[in-house]
Amino acid sequence: MSLAERLARPEILALPPVDIAGAPLAGTIRLDANENPFGSLVAGQPAINRYPDPQPTELRRRLADLHGVAPGSLWVTRGSDDAIDLLVRAFCRAVEDSVALVEPTFAAYAQFARIQGAGVVAARLTDDLAFDADAVLATVAPARPKLLFLCTPNNPTGTPVDPADVRRIAAALPDTIVVADEAYGEFSDAPSLAAEAGLIANLVVLRTLSKAYGLAGARIGCAVADPSIIELLARVSPPYPLPGPSIAAALGALSPERMPIHAERVARILADRGRLAERLGEAAQVKRLRAGGNFLFLEVDDPDDLSRRLAAAAIRVRFRPKAAPGGVRITIGTEAENAALLAVFGLGEEARPARRAEIVRDTNETRIALAIDLDRAEPRRISSGIPFYDHMLDQVAAHGGFSLVLACQGDLATDSHHSVEDIAIVLGQGLKTALGDKAGIGRFGFALPMDETRAEVLIDLSGRPFAKFEGGFATASVGDLPTEMVPHIFRSLADSLGAAIHVRVDGDNDHHKVEGCFKAFGRALRGAIALDGSGERSLPSTKGVL
Ligand code: PMP
Repeated sequence: MSLAERLARPEILALPPVDIAGAPLAGTIRLDANENPFGSLVAGQPAINRYPDPQPTELRRRLADLHGVAPGSLWVTRGSDDAIDLLVRAFCRAVEDSVALVEPTFAAYAQFARIQGAGVVAARLTDDLAFDADAVLATVAPARPKLLFLCTPNNPTGTPVDPADVRRIAAALPDTIVVADEAYGEFSDAPSLAAEAGLIANLVVLRTLSKAYGLAGARIGCAVADPSIIELLARVSPPYPLPGPSIAAALGALSPERMPIHAERVARILADRGRLAERLGEAAQVKRLRAGGNFLFLEVDDPDDLSRRLAAAAIRVRFRPKAAPGGVRITIGTEAENAALLAVFGLGEEARPARRAEIVRDTNETRIALAIDLDRAEPRRISSGIPFYDHMLDQVAAHGGFSLVLACQGDLATDSHHSVEDIAIVLGQGLKTALGDKAGIGRFGFALPMDETRAEVLIDLSGRPFAKFEGGFATASVGDLPTEMVPHIFRSLADSLGAAIHVRVDGDNDHHKVEGCFKAFGRALRGAIALDGSGERSLPSTKGVL
């Protein structure tokens, strides 16, 4: 008898196993589900006249890949809230069974337990809001709960639970399913326990796309566990729990070329969290502060006063007086939002508008994601699918002095043309968006020698696209980049950036010539995008508009 069978509610075990049939083969005449045969009248969503796949195969596989487990060990849920609910419904009988948790923590664990009529056994973090595994075991073990929820890092206190403690607790409570809720796992240094969830029979790990992947509105999460537990979750799931547009959104967000942007956003949120923690630590009203996940947990002197000031600034945060006296949980926002928050604490700072852009562009030929930050030199992570082009784009960013994260999934099996061109278009759009109103920038050019080669690029961020390329190449390609695409790249850039770009190159060696063009372009851009340092945001144009 599996652990799942031993612990499950008898009524659930008595239900017939669920047949997860999967989507029908293309071309199948579907007269089985009483759907409307006509495509929906919603723009962009013609196929939602059909019920979605109950457990979408591709998304299940993608999430399993992401968490390093087999698809059979993972159940896709409607947010991880739904996974909590399914677990409680599969294992807890009303009155007789209980759920354990470590307060203060995420309210949904107790909420779903109460809805089910199950008891709640509450251990507590220490007075310092630290996790003490022995204290938790001492409180929880005698109650023999069906489920123990360990939230790591913990909402709202940010407290991490050491994975070794989770393993030790799971070993000490063989008749309890230990649920490690890693909703904020991407924001934590601790390694995920997901890959161990299939190996430790009574361990379940919850993950979500709501936080690090920016899909709170799509409601997609998952539970990772031994297949015998997954089979029980299938039995308590409604027939079609996941809306089709949400499945599509999740697959879109998890597409490989989007992943570097997610990583970059997490890194930025963590950096901002550090900066905010440092600043708020100086505020007189803040008695204690903890950072975890994508949030801060503050204990303040006078929460009513803070509440009034936040309301006046139209800022919403979560007050958590039961978690700690004066407890407030604050999510890390955008730079402007964080600056508004600091101002409420009397920590105003002159926020220069960020010169940043994120662009995603999908066509039938390429899928491209780009993040650019003109005021930071790092990171530079470029994956165009064309190694020599990666090298050239890296030259542009390195010599341009800006951060560039770019990934492309293109139809390289056809030809590199679409990827090369579309990346140039997206780079130009990214630069243009990041430049914003262009206030305070220069407008320059650059010439450089590279051994026998001389490359010169003149650039004017005038808003008027114009491209001129003087020079030619003797060979058809350099590395895997066709040389005929080089003038075309500058043309695409000029069009999407809204710039005049003049390139002149001569020399004997095509590698030097191509590289010289990109380096000189980077250097020319560096001068063109640099703020003049005076702090004045004037436009370098007598027209007053660029
Ligand atoms: N677990 C924790 C610890 C959370 O904080 C949240 C949301 N605030 C969730 C789970 C649920 O997230 P979702 O349902 O959006 O996946």
